[in-house]
Amino acid sequence: MHNQLASIESQLNILPSCAEEELKLQVCEDKNVRLFVKRDDQIHPIISGNKWRKLKYALIQAQQDNVKQIVSFGGGYSNHIHALAYCCKQLKIRFTAIIRGHYQGNLSPMLADIHAWGANIKFVDKLTYQQRHEKAYLTNLIQQYPGALIIPEGGSQAMAKQGVAEIYQELTQAYDYIAVPIASGGTLAGLIAASHQQSAHVLGIAVLKGQGYLEQLVVDLLDAKEQKTDNWSVEHRYHFGGYAKRPKALVDWCDDFSEHSNIPVEPVYSGKLLYALLDKIANDEFPAGSKILAIHTGGLQGNRELTKEVAL
Ligand SMILES: *Cc1c(COP(=O)(O)O)cnc(C)c1O
Repeated sequence: MHNQLASIESQLNILPSCAEEELKLQVCEDKNVRLFVKRDDQIHPIISGNKWRKLKYALIQAQQDNVKQIVSFGGGYSNHIHALAYCCKQLKIRFTAIIRGHYQGNLSPMLADIHAWGANIKFVDKLTYQQRHEKAYLTNLIQQYPGALIIPEGGSQAMAKQGVAEIYQELTQAYDYIAVPIASGGTLAGLIAASHQQSAHVLGIAVLKGQGYLEQLVVDLLDAKEQKTDNWSVEHRYHFGGYAKRPKALVDWCDDFSEHSNIPVEPVYSGKLLYALLDKIANDEFPAGSKILAIHTGGLQGNRELTKEVAL
């Protein structure tokens, strides 16, 4: 497996390890906590940080099994679909993207990219999209795309945990808290599953309204021996109204943060993560002396404006 990993990473030009940087901010000094950012956004200029981690073993498996076609699901701005479409193009695997919503004639920048990379795009309505986890629907898809490997939304499946867990091997020091944004749960689940590698508390910052629902997604991805309850939690107070909701105050905050820290963030994931951590620090929610690591999961491609009039 190690050779295949090295080979696929060099085929795709993946950065093998991403650095941690300390954010030297007044609020951290005042509250006597240290905040670091692991720059997984630098994994690749196109393939979004945590999406590579979640997809790598599925793609190695696909190469080994000589899979000719992959099918997956996402919204019109999905970082997962974008990353996977690019990987499939580079690895010469046919890719079908099942997209929620009808964007024909009005492609998002993400869709324009994957169209240019040769993806087969199928637009479906909300009700059809809701069936994406159902057996009958998936059986039907397999008949439509014989021999296809179907990867769930966000790339969040049991196999994704192994790739995410590799984050621990790259860390240069121990932390008290390791924080990531959470949407489909695979990234948080991977960190929890391998949390024996560090004694850090694993903290998910919910980027959508999902109290209970998000925790259940994570639990469903963990097997019996990975189930723990005392070393992880999901923070629900920073979704700013829901998934991809971007009130002006948050957008301005992201612009300001990006400019002053030299770390680019966007309002859907990394902006909510860092806003949340800094707000929690300011409110004394971390004990003095804490070392906190925020994992910058990437996703900057999703922050582009809608391109008008790209016909499909
Ligand atoms: C998809 C994504 C997430 C969410 O990760 P999940 O594993 O789906 O919870 C976080 N950050 C970025 C940049 C993403 O693209």
